[in-house]
Amino acid sequence: MSQKAEIDQARKWIVEAKAITVLTGAGISADSGVPTFRGDGGLWRKYRAEDLATPEAFADNPKLVWEWYDWRRRQLAGKRPNPGHIALTEMERRSSGFTLITQNVDGLHDLAGSRLPLKLHGDIWNLRCTDCSARSVNRETPLKRLPPLCDCGALLRPDIVWFGESLPQDVLEEAWSRACAADLFLVVGTSALVQPAASLPLLARERGARLVEINQQKTPLTAHADIALFGTAGDLLPALVTL
Ligand code: NAD
Ligand code: ZN
Repeated sequence: MSQKAEIDQARKWIVEAKAITVLTGAGISADSGVPTFRGDGGLWRKYRAEDLATPEAFADNPKLVWEWYDWRRRQLAGKRPNPGHIALTEMERRSSGFTLITQNVDGLHDLAGSRLPLKLHGDIWNLRCTDCSARSVNRETPLKRLPPLCDCGALLRPDIVWFGESLPQDVLEEAWSRACAADLFLVVGTSALVQPAASLPLLARERGARLVEINQQKTPLTAHADIALFGTAGDLLPALVTL
C-alpha cells in the first residue's frame, strides 16, 4: 500500500473506532523543538540523564539534580504545542471513547488542550515534597531557590518517575485498562524501549485492537503494527484527523 492509502485506511479506522487509546513519546514533542531522549541536545555539562534522573543522584547532590531540571524547564518554557499535539485534541473532541497516555513530562499535551492525559512518567512542572508528599504546580523559570523547599521545610523534588522507580500505580492501572478496552491503539514517537509503557500497544493488540504506529524509524513495535506510518508526528497526525 502507498503511504497515502495507508493514511486513508488509518483515518477510516479512527472514524469507526469506539475506543481510541493513544500512547505518545518524546518524538511527538520533537517538532516543538524539544530534544528526544536519544537525540542531540540531551546532554547537560558532562552528565547524561541516566546519571541525574535517579533517586541516588538526588540523595547525593540535590542541588546538582535541580540545576539540571531547572535547565530543562528553562529549555521547555518557550516551547509551544505543534500540529501533532493539536491534532490529538481534535481527535479527542471527535471521539466518544478517547484516552491519551503519554511518557512525556513536558506538559505540551496540556497546553494543546488535551483533557487529563495519563502521565506515566510524571510532569516536570509539578513538584512533590520528599517528606510530607505535598504536591504543587510550579512554572517558575528559573527557579528562585535551588533546591526548592516545601512549606514544611523539607526538600521538594520533581514529580517525575526516575530511573529505578516504579510508575504511579493508579495511573498505570488506568493506562492498562484503557489499552485493554481500545479497539484502535495509536502509538506516536516512542522508541518503545522503556517498560512498562512499551507493552501497552502489544497488550491492546492481543485484545483485538488495531495498532497504528507513527515514527520516523522502525521500532520493536513496527512488526506488530497493522499500519506503520513513517514520518513526523507534526505532519502525519493532522493528516489522520482531517475530513
Ligand atoms: P525516545 O527519545 O526514546 O524515542 C523517541 C522516538 O521518537 C524515536 O523512536 C524517534 O524515531 C521518534 N521520533 C523522533 N522525532 C520524531 C518526530 N518528529 N515524529 C515522530 N517520531 C519521531 O523517547 P521515548 O520513547 O518517549 O522514551 C524516552 C523517555 O525519556 C521517556 O520515559 C520520556 O519520559 C523521557 N523524555 C521525555 C521528553 C519530553 O517530555 N518531551 C523528552 C525526552 C525524554
Ligand atoms: Zn513538605
